[in-house]
Amino acid sequence: MAKAFFGGVHPNDMKAATNEKAIEQLAPPKQVVIPMSMHFGAPCAPIVQKGDHVKIGQKIGETKGLGAPIHASVSGTVVAVEPRPFSMGGNIMSVVIDNDFQDEISEEVVAPADPDALSVEEMIEIVKNAGIVGMGGATFPTHVKISGGIGLVDTVIINGAECEPYITGDHRAMLERPEQIIGGCCYLAKMFGVDKVTIGVEMNKQNGIDSLNKKIEEMKAPVVVQPLRTRYPQGGEKQLCQAITGKQVPPGGLPSAIGCAVFNINSVCAIYRAITTGMPVVRKVVTVSGSGVVEPKNLECPIGTPVGLLFDACGGLKDNTFKLIAGGPMMGMAQYTADISVAKGTGALLAFAGDENKVAQDPTCIRCGRCVEACPMHLRPLYLYMYVQKKNVELLNEAHIMDCMECGACAYICPGRLHLTQSFKAGKQLVKDDAAKKKAAAEAAKAAEEKKGA
Ligand code: SF4
Ligand code: SF4
Repeated sequence: MAKAFFGGVHPNDMKAATNEKAIEQLAPPKQVVIPMSMHFGAPCAPIVQKGDHVKIGQKIGETKGLGAPIHASVSGTVVAVEPRPFSMGGNIMSVVIDNDFQDEISEEVVAPADPDALSVEEMIEIVKNAGIVGMGGATFPTHVKISGGIGLVDTVIINGAECEPYITGDHRAMLERPEQIIGGCCYLAKMFGVDKVTIGVEMNKQNGIDSLNKKIEEMKAPVVVQPLRTRYPQGGEKQLCQAITGKQVPPGGLPSAIGCAVFNINSVCAIYRAITTGMPVVRKVVTVSGSGVVEPKNLECPIGTPVGLLFDACGGLKDNTFKLIAGGPMMGMAQYTADISVAKGTGALLAFAGDENKVAQDPTCIRCGRCVEACPMHLRPLYLYMYVQKKNVELLNEAHIMDCMECGACAYICPGRLHLTQSFKAGKQLVKDDAAKKKAAAEAAKAAEEKKGA
């Protein structure tokens, strides 16, 4: 039986433009711009310099603390190490490599002699060195999720919901690369010591479900596919856990609090490739779609490929394009420049044209309550909006604004066309700034007190 979660909305999934198109390999780019922060945690420090020769899979960014290393995605010469525009906003230190088109593979890329004989510790080390992160956009380092979950987690869930409109890369992977998905699930089952891994897939991908089930049968793998109702944001970690286990992750908590660990389909494929071939994350499948794109496609390209090349491969952008988004239309980031490159978390590039610019001149709340019904986190968005306008941090805390996952379901359903999600991002920042201010004041008071007593 299909399962679901509380709240949510039913946007038109807009997937028909690409869900029947096989993943195409983009022509190799002349140059890649690889950002040194493509993960949750501190940015990597570049370990190459201008003039260095690099090979595919060679480590070029080293992490300290929470993070994931970064590798060269083409062979060639480093021509700059400098800040460049980044899809998550602002400029970020990047390594720029001119491609020599020799496709030389680094000596650092070594396939294990017998992947099935690896110990749990050895597999985690491979996942860590391969720079694997939550590639659905969350970008949390995968090795940290695995090592932190062992002993706590008894339910391993693979996120195949792909609930954001337009995006079809995971669906295509289910059809074209099921052996990587199921193989990766088997390694996760071994790492967590569980006898079953569950893949949650929305029912609008029935052929994807069939393809996975066929491979599970062939491989006799300890994996089951759980069909899910098509409802946004089904792919939110907490919503997926609720739909599959019936249990709710406590407010402010992680899935591990209820014994769950959730991994993205792309990350599972990356785990399989790293363990069987030694190749780290150097390529990404990106859905290029939207009304501003002449011929929408799913393209696979080296990490760091300038996004303009992906749009060019899709016939370019239409003249009346007014908006570019990196990611899906609900949770993606609007871009002020096309001068950005593909990162590990870039699942889609969307361009919108023509009359799709539905900006209200005078957004007004009509107190219809639809946002409350839609919020999967049981929040009351209309009040949150009011408190953000008043910059009232106390009320924002009382209304649990930090539980907002910025899914955009409320903004989608709102007939008053209020900029709800945008305003909640600002509200969460107000709360964080206030907490930092209070902490600094408390520390200063404590230091003054200690000085007095000395
Ligand atoms: S953006 Fe936040 S407030 Fe709005 S529906 Fe999503 S979780 Fe709820
Ligand atoms: S959906 Fe929009 S108009 Fe309706 S109550 Fe919520 S904020 Fe107000």
